[in-house]
Order: sequence, then structure tokens, then C-alpha cells
Amino acid sequence: MKFYILTLFPEMVMNGLRTSILGRAEKNGYLSFEAVNIRDYADNKHLRVDDYTYGGGAGMLMRAQPVYGAYEAVEKAVGSRPRVVYLTPQGKVFNQQMAKEFAKEQNLVFLCGHYEGIDERVLEEIVTDYVSIGDYVLTGGELPAMVMIDAVSRMVPGVLSNEESAQFESFEGALLEYPQYSRPEVWHEKAVPPVLLSGHHANIEKWRRAQSVIRTAQRRPDLLKNAELTEEERILAKETLQNTCDPQKAP
Ligand code: SAM
Repeated sequence: MKFYILTLFPEMVMNGLRTSILGRAEKNGYLSFEAVNIRDYADNKHLRVDDYTYGGGAGMLMRAQPVYGAYEAVEKAVGSRPRVVYLTPQGKVFNQQMAKEFAKEQNLVFLCGHYEGIDERVLEEIVTDYVSIGDYVLTGGELPAMVMIDAVSRMVPGVLSNEESAQFESFEGALLEYPQYSRPEVWHEKAVPPVLLSGHHANIEKWRRAQSVIRTAQRRPDLLKNAELTEEERILAKETLQNTCDPQKAP
């Protein structure tokens, strides 16, 4: 899978993406990243990419022309109209399901805004998906692009090794992951739950599933409505909810 990132700050994006697991995946040929510098496509002598907004108001806006030029270069390289994700706080909030869906694409383009954003006219022409990473405003789309590329990459076969498998993680089956422990068996007088040392796989699975239900009820009860729970698990979730005190509401 190839990711193109249209940005004014290519080094920022590439330094982040070529680190650790994603860097290894690129070296091994499972992924590739290309940052396209929007400034390289500016049609004026000073390579200016921003301008004042019509109608007044504070801040500058990224001009349509260089953004479109960068997009056209990618479209030409890909040989067809690619899916283009514009990172914006006005978009649909990104989640694991979207990561899985994006991972089906062969090429995916991320368009990073800066300043006050981008001239609406070029967005209308090239953007296929408007996506946000949450209800807050950042200075640019580079960090959101890196967040999404990381989550999408993990869904691409071969990117994660067996040890890093994404199979039993939070949000799979709409539940959060159970708590995990590594060596030593006792740390700060806290012992690892005995069932995990028992070697009894069925009991371990049962314990983990119950812990996932409890943790989801405690931390993200909103997820429970989409979770497929047995009757026993539903009762466990309900009891946990009744016994959970919201620390934000506590006196
Ligand atoms: N004026 C814009 C608005 O109110 O919708 C915000 C512009 S923001 C300062 C600059 C750029 O950062 C945006 O064009 C977008 O690419 C990126 N950005 C900021 N917050 C974001 C978020 N929550 N999710 C995704 N991208 C974001």
C-alpha cells in the first residue's frame, strides 16, 4: 500500500513515519510513503502558498493552485483518481473501522491543511473523505495524517509481526483490551493474577473476556451498546456500571 501525504512540512511527516514498525514495514516492502511538498507546486516567484481570506477575518488560507498542482502530480503517478482524505476538525471522527476500510486501498492520499485551512474550491474538486482525529483544533494536518497512517498501516497484512498482532486488541468486537502483565510475577507487592500463570488456556480466555467487559464498562461504557455480549456478560457489565464511580463526578 502506498501513502501520499500532501503537506508543507514533508520532513516532519517522513521522520515520524520512517521510525520503528512502520519504517521496518517500508524497508520490507509492505508499505511506502511519499510526502509531496505543496510548496514545490506554487506558481509564483516567491513560492507563496497562502493568502488572505476574502471577506476578512484573522489568519491566512492555503491557496487552491499549489494544492491542486500537488494533487495532479500524485494522480499522474497513480494513473487514476485516488482516494483523498482531507484532515479537518470538520470531518467524521476517525475510528478503527475507518482504519480497516482505508487499508483496502492500494493508494491513499492525505491532504494536510495549515493556517486557517485550505481554499474551499480545491477541496470540492479533489477530496473524497473529510476526516478528523477528534473534537479539538490543531495547527496542521500533519499529526492527524500520521495518526491515521499508523492506524491504517497496522491493518495491512505483513506490517505487524506475530508478536505485534492486532487480532485481540481494543475495539475488536467493540470491547477494550483486558489488562496485561509481564515479568516479574510480583512487582511493588502486586502479584500477576494467578489464572495467567496457570497454563489453562480456556480459563485464561474466560478471564480475559470478563476483564474486557469490566474494563469497557468502567472506561468506555458508550461502546457497550455495539458489543456482542452473552447474558452473563451483560449482567457483569451492568454490575460493573453500578459499582463504577466516575472520577470526574466524584466530590
Ligand atoms: N479553520 C479551521 C476550522 O475551524 O475548521 C481549522 C484550521 S486548523 C488551525 C489547520 C489545519 O489543521 C486544518 O486545515 C486541518 O488540516 C488540521 N487539523 C486541525 N485540527 C484537526 C483535527 N482535529 N483533525 C484533523 N485535522 C485537523
